[in-house]
Amino acid sequence: MIAMALTRRGAGVLEACEREVPSVKAGEVLVRVRACGVCRTDLHVVDDELPDIEVPRVPGHEIVGTIERLGDGSPAFQEGDRVGIPWLGFTRGKCEYCTGGRENLCRLARFTGYQIDGGYAEYAVADARYVFKLPDSYNDVEAAPLLCAGLIGYRAYRMAGDGRRVGIYGFGAAAHIIAQVARHDGREVYAFTSPGDVTAQEFARSLGARWAGASTERPPDPLDAAIIFAPVGTLVPQALRQTTPGGVVVCAGIHMSDIPSFPYRDLWEERTVRSVANLTRRDAREFLALAPTVPVKTRVRPYDLVHANDALSDVRRGRLEGAAVLVPPQTSR
Ligand SMILES: [Zn+2]
Ligand SMILES: [Zn+2]
Repeated sequence: MIAMALTRRGAGVLEACEREVPSVKAGEVLVRVRACGVCRTDLHVVDDELPDIEVPRVPGHEIVGTIERLGDGSPAFQEGDRVGIPWLGFTRGKCEYCTGGRENLCRLARFTGYQIDGGYAEYAVADARYVFKLPDSYNDVEAAPLLCAGLIGYRAYRMAGDGRRVGIYGFGAAAHIIAQVARHDGREVYAFTSPGDVTAQEFARSLGARWAGASTERPPDPLDAAIIFAPVGTLVPQALRQTTPGGVVVCAGIHMSDIPSFPYRDLWEERTVRSVANLTRRDAREFLALAPTVPVKTRVRPYDLVHANDALSDVRRGRLEGAAVLVPPQTSR
């Protein structure tokens, strides 16, 4: 099979490799990849911005595919089922976090496309316990961004609380999904982009944002919550200054540049800054049930698998509306 792999730590680009189709062990499924979304986290992997990256590694944790082979003991699925494989790929299931509904924080968790080879390939293997059936109303390419931009975006959105006015910093794949969910919940969305990114601001307005402007601007009303999807630490104090007393700022990414110091008065009056890490399988079940009822429509740009580096570079430069999705050769669009 063809796989796009990181072969040298920090290389910043992937190499096309010819590999054996992986074999399945008990409890695993072999999935023929039909589409795999490109997430900013994949950039953090290829740029060596996460700890302990091993090479060679195939990135990709928004995998849509069909089950080609079942290992022993995967009773939830049949060959031919269409499934999604997200970021959370394994936990031990025994620690306080796992037994307390917070498996996203398990110390022994392993993640797809980071510690486990992911979906930038024609085939991927996954632990069947971390694989999900997908709503029929999405085709393969449309469904891919639901699996991280959607799932982790949704977790970040829930952590933002119930306030009416929600700010979103960085209007990429996750934001375009969560804006739709927030509108569906009757909330007002305020979209913050890089200064001058009129295209992203227009895109946000087209998805129902009440206001869209530069991250340095003050919105017309103070925010009850802000979610930061951009990996830019300076946004944290900026967002905090736009929130009302009791407001919350959620950092949704796995990596961010350093947060500059800021005066305590910007945090005063019970404002909160928090991060969101990974996802639980419960997040996945909830969001995959919710998405078709909104209905969330994903904006996708497909790329041939072998052009993964072009997709990564477009995500890096913020040149996309919505989400980049890789498509292996055999998939019809
Ligand atoms: Zn655990
Ligand atoms: Zn992701």
